[in-house]
Amino acid sequence: MKKRVAIYGSTGSIGTQALDVVEAHADLFELEILTAHSNAGLLIQQAKKYRPNMVVISDESKYEQVNDALSGDHIKVFAGEKSLIDLAGSDSYDILLAAIVGFAGLSSTIAALQQGKTVALANKETLVVAGDIVSELVSKHHASLIPVDSEHSAIFQCIVGEAAGAVEKIVLTASGGPFLGKKPNYLINVKKDHALQHPNWTMGAKITIDSASLMNKGLEMIEAKWLFGLQNEQIEVIVHAQSIIHSMVQFVDGSMKAQMGLPDMKLPIQYALAFPHRVQNDFKRFEFKNFPSLTFEAADTKTFRNLALAKEAMYKGGNAPCVLNAANEVVVDAFLKNKVGFLEMSDIIESCLEKVAFIEKPTLNDYVLCNTETRALASSFIK
Ligand code: NDP
Ligand code: MG
Repeated sequence: MKKRVAIYGSTGSIGTQALDVVEAHADLFELEILTAHSNAGLLIQQAKKYRPNMVVISDESKYEQVNDALSGDHIKVFAGEKSLIDLAGSDSYDILLAAIVGFAGLSSTIAALQQGKTVALANKETLVVAGDIVSELVSKHHASLIPVDSEHSAIFQCIVGEAAGAVEKIVLTASGGPFLGKKPNYLINVKKDHALQHPNWTMGAKITIDSASLMNKGLEMIEAKWLFGLQNEQIEVIVHAQSIIHSMVQFVDGSMKAQMGLPDMKLPIQYALAFPHRVQNDFKRFEFKNFPSLTFEAADTKTFRNLALAKEAMYKGGNAPCVLNAANEVVVDAFLKNKVGFLEMSDIIESCLEKVAFIEKPTLNDYVLCNTETRALASSFIK
């Protein structure tokens, strides 16, 4: 039986790579749903090439364009966020790849988990914003969350077959991004073109800026906490510029496992879609002789304050990570529009963490309101 796959965010960096994986393994997977936000042109092209049964364009103003282009193709066309949620909760697919970027990915992932579905999770913001509620849904509805983020896929691969309670700590590796080793006097002037040039990975704009500011690693600490049920003290970060070791687990007997490979998101995407099976492929292989030294160093959290702020938010808990995420989404968008400087992003996030009222045990509705309130506050700091 083939797995029926829904790709939420098929026009993005993860989404397009997932389409390559699905196409390369037509014996294992069939496409059921593709979704995009506003890139109607690419969604139409993908629908004609990969022939899913359904597509959703969440920007409703693009519905006619998509529907007209696909009339006669026997592909059902839907529009709007409600359709994303309705289809995520439907029986039409077996595994949903959550590859929408940001807070916008939360509602559809929740709808899928409420129906006990298997979700291959790329959208880390979902766990940052509402990790407690999402984890409760997974256990209540016997749903599954399989990580796609390369570090979390690495940890997941290291703990397969290990007993619960065997983990002493995890070590998330960080590439350090394009500004590794740089200091504030340099960072004060950097612009988006430079920040978008990641040394090891080609990704969507938002996560590339997050990688340059180390916010990505902070979000990943919180993501790991909820995915693997860890205490804050069990989560460490180390800078490993080559991105060959994707992360490590140390067990209670002191033994350590690391998962390694060339930086290529297709591997964790394929692993998550095919889990529990490993599937042969022709991806380029890692060779030790090409990497004579793998290096490790502590992260400079005095310069890259976003990582320190994220860690603080993780320890504080409650709605603090939701505030952190919302403020970060606003400042990254503003940085991409040249409206705030690189270092100013941390200032605004810090102000939001100080000013938004703390809620110790938020409901889902509290998270939604907190996201809206923080976005408005963060925007008010931007000229
Ligand atoms: P991209 O920006 O490349 O793609 C985002 C996707 O989400 C697009 O399909 C986009 O549609 C869609 N989208 C954007 N806004 C909305 C919205 N409001 N409602 C519905 N859909 C929306 O992002 P990436 O692929 O880089 O990242 C996706 C997620 O995966 C992020 O959470 C990221 O952190 C995570 N991730 C990504 C990695 C990577 O290598 N790229 C690695 C690890 C994790 P449209 O094209 O129409 O705008
Ligand atoms: Mg990652």
